[in-house]
Amino acid sequence: MVKETQYYDILGVKPSASPEEIKKAYRKLALKYHPDKNPDEGEKFKLISQAYEVLSDPKKRDIYDQGGEQAIKEGGSGSPSFSSPMDIFDMFFGGGGRMARERRGKNVVHQLSVTLEDLYNGVTKKLALQKNVICEKCEGVGGKKGSVEKCPLCKGRGMQIHIQQIGPGMVQQIQTMCIECKGQGERINPKDRCESCNGAKVIREKKIIEVHVEKGMKDGQKILFHGEGDQEPELEPGDVIIVLDQKDHSVFQRRGHDLIMKMKIQLSEALCGFKKTIKTLDDRILIITSKSGDVIKHGDLKCVRNEGMPIYKAPLEKGILIIQFLVIFPEKHWLSQDKLAQLEALLPPRQKVRITDDMDQVELKEFNPNEQNWRQHREAYEEDDDGPRGGVQCQTA
Ligand SMILES: [Zn+2]
Ligand SMILES: [Zn+2]
Repeated sequence: MVKETQYYDILGVKPSASPEEIKKAYRKLALKYHPDKNPDEGEKFKLISQAYEVLSDPKKRDIYDQGGEQAIKEGGSGSPSFSSPMDIFDMFFGGGGRMARERRGKNVVHQLSVTLEDLYNGVTKKLALQKNVICEKCEGVGGKKGSVEKCPLCKGRGMQIHIQQIGPGMVQQIQTMCIECKGQGERINPKDRCESCNGAKVIREKKIIEVHVEKGMKDGQKILFHGEGDQEPELEPGDVIIVLDQKDHSVFQRRGHDLIMKMKIQLSEALCGFKKTIKTLDDRILIITSKSGDVIKHGDLKCVRNEGMPIYKAPLEKGILIIQFLVIFPEKHWLSQDKLAQLEALLPPRQKVRITDDMDQVELKEFNPNEQNWRQHREAYEEDDDGPRGGVQCQTA
């Protein structure tokens, strides 16, 4: 049991979540709340990033599970040391961190929704993106040639220094980014500004890219378009990174190269054999057979070779299709008393039970877990006594 669940709640996962589930939750939320897409949600983006930073590191997650946020903030150096949300984002999506960010234009990360059929068969999708391109009219200068001047307010330093009195005879120097040139150190006289980009040097442009989703690609996989990201004067352009996001499928679940499905069968089919059909992700129909004489039990797993997902870069090979059988039992009173006797005669014999007078006759009732309040009380009691227990057993008093 964990001390706090706040970080888990931020990512929308259970405290028992696997590392993969945590990665997936971060991926979806970080793309949704990234300042490029949601400029007003900067705080939320930061919280998502911090929660991920802790929960994705087994050591930090352990510290958090045991001592909560307080323990994380006290951990090691004594002060909380979270990485910048942008660094976490770039590391996750392959942007290369702050150094690369300063030498290159921004990466554009985009999520592309795909179906399991798309990943099985492969598909080409067109995606419209917004990106910054160098203004053609002024060739990225921002105004007429020679109109760029040193910023008069900060004298080209890009920073302004304020002197602040913080007590009698004590002053403090505070450096802030220059508001006139926004830290650039230079500016363009308003009357010389390029009309097309309004002095910004770049303009926003819509661009259609074709994304080739190949057979066997998986949820979360990235497809890179080198140099197709934002352009900035004097910088290498950034990349476009497309992240695949697979929608849940109504029949199949994917696990690695394998597909898993549940199949309901009647009790008669479980005992006497059957033929059933399965529609594949490329619209073929498979026939599966349980031979007369075979018995399939509730929950049994069977598999079909080479009917799983195609393997990425080797799509002629495929994983396996795993089928879990769920046996449907008939409802009560489905058969009259005399027929029941006939049925019983065909089934394997009952086990004999010896009943004596000193035994207690008790009533067998339907079990509803929500009504069993005493179980929770008992759990709380045990926790006080000797720490939390992993689970509560159903005991007879
Ligand atoms: Zn300035
Ligand atoms: Zn321009």
